[in-house]
Amino acid sequence: MLNIKDLVVQYPRSSENALDHISLTLEKGDFVCILGKSGAGKSTFIRSINRLHEPTSGQVKWEGMELTTLPEGEMRKIRSEMVMIFQHFNLIPRMTVFQNTLTGSFGRRPAYKNLLGLFSESEKSRGLLALEEVGLEHHANKRVEALSGGQKQRVGIARALLQDPKLLLGDEPVASLDPTTSRRIFGLLKKIHEERELLSIINVHDVHLAKEFATRIIGLRDGRVVFDGKPEEIDERI
Ligand code: ADP
Ligand code: ADP
Repeated sequence: MLNIKDLVVQYPRSSENALDHISLTLEKGDFVCILGKSGAGKSTFIRSINRLHEPTSGQVKWEGMELTTLPEGEMRKIRSEMVMIFQHFNLIPRMTVFQNTLTGSFGRRPAYKNLLGLFSESEKSRGLLALEEVGLEHHANKRVEALSGGQKQRVGIARALLQDPKLLLGDEPVASLDPTTSRRIFGLLKKIHEERELLSIINVHDVHLAKEFATRIIGLRDGRVVFDGKPEEIDERI
């Protein structure tokens, strides 16, 4: 389903490869946690999949389609099935929970409608369903700046759900949350993952979270895969 071959990323003015010839096949249903110390290449890896970062060389095949050579217009369409959840949530602080959630449907609409903020009734009802799915329906009209960290991330997840994802990418989605909230967020992601039969690839610092939730763990060090296996086989020193 996601076939990565010989993926290399080298940042300008850097002598080392941030990703050094990574080859992996990830299947629908996998809940993959990427583990590794800071600087290991986790974020670069996640962002190379949806081409938020352009790989230097190598192939990324999604459902048989080669992404690295796809024109940007085509890539934009594909990106709408690859949702991304961020460490710092990337919400619009002055807008409400509901408005932020609805921006998840922007990828599907012409730009002028986005500017006018016009949302169809069906988009609104899908927005409400997404908020119910993450347990935030009673906070719909609050500004997101008034929410806790865990609640903000749940808005990020609701927004992602509006895109009808097939692939869920998480770039350290719980790195700024406390341990209890982090576990709740992972629990929510796992539930959504299972209900929607996604492929999920999530960067995480905490080996215990990965062991609890992942079906497969990939360990990175210096841009190379140093572990690929089941949670019970993990070497905690990654
Ligand atoms: P992680 O997410 O595991 O912390 P990153 O993917 O952010 O790792 O970084 C991998 C390597 O690439 C590190 O050595 C980092 O310093 C380097 N790197 C990341 N972003 C840039 C950049 N914009 N320019 C140059 N080097 C970068
Ligand atoms: P924080 O701890 O950052 O305030 P939480 O994610 O822990 O945010 O949740 C805040 C409130 O929402 C809690 O009362 C919690 O029980 C409730 N809650 C958390 N996750 C869900 C969910 N998936 N569905 C419904 N309610 C939830």
